[in-house]
Amino acid sequence: MKIDVLEMTPTKAELVISDTNPTFVNAIRRTIVADVPKMAINNVEFHLGPIMDESNKAYESISPLFDEIVSHRLSLVPIPTDLEQFNFRSECSCGGEGCPSCTIMYSLNKKGPCTVYSGDLEPVGSEHLKIKDDLIPIVKLAEDQALLVYATAELGRGKDHAKWQATVGAGYRYAADIEIENGKCDAGCSCAEICPKDVLVKDGRKLKAEHPEKCNLCNSCVEMCEVEAIKVTGNPSKLNFRFETDGSMAAKDVLLKGLSILEERFEQLREQLSALE
Ligand SMILES: [Zn+2]
Repeated sequence: MKIDVLEMTPTKAELVISDTNPTFVNAIRRTIVADVPKMAINNVEFHLGPIMDESNKAYESISPLFDEIVSHRLSLVPIPTDLEQFNFRSECSCGGEGCPSCTIMYSLNKKGPCTVYSGDLEPVGSEHLKIKDDLIPIVKLAEDQALLVYATAELGRGKDHAKWQATVGAGYRYAADIEIENGKCDAGCSCAEICPKDVLVKDGRKLKAEHPEKCNLCNSCVEMCEVEAIKVTGNPSKLNFRFETDGSMAAKDVLLKGLSILEERFEQLREQLSALE
């Protein structure tokens, strides 16, 4: 198996995996979507009753949205996740009560009129847990309205709730094998121009597939070519695999964690099978 990295940024990865098959790449896709854990807000406590400001002005602790909707929106905010630092609450040495090794606590204190953003969540304790994506709107407060909440984040998995899914838009497609018979084709037609991904390039009277990795198998060039000089086929042993993250974890960390989960599972299977002998 060979892996070429086309793009690897903190929130996006695109790879070409060769000498493989769709089943294998799909196993990676499913694992990074459903099994790689991340932190998300799982509990929100709302202050009830009047909220006072410094000059003793009283605000009503209310917002135009139901508390349930505000909680739901808060739960989807990407929480910076370092998997080395946190345990699952149920497996933590605190016995599930909540401690700095399994829980992050945030406070939010805003008075209207204003828009409450994800960046208004203040981590209690370490500043590096501050929300990076700080302009996600949560709710708009009107005059005399205020919101005072304490929210706790904990580790979970995407298969339990989408708020614990670090990976978004994970998918793969066959890489393209592009054959051009330059004897037939004189690059006189507009097959290069019709390509929506700029895969084909004209070099004098020759046509070249300059960026075959960008091809999405749309076959526009094949349909355009009057002399049937272009053949585009999907290769099931070479796959273009891409995914993004919600920003809570780096794409590379998500992939590495996914692979180690898969490895662990196969190891368990191997141990159980050898015990049968
Ligand atoms: Zn704990």
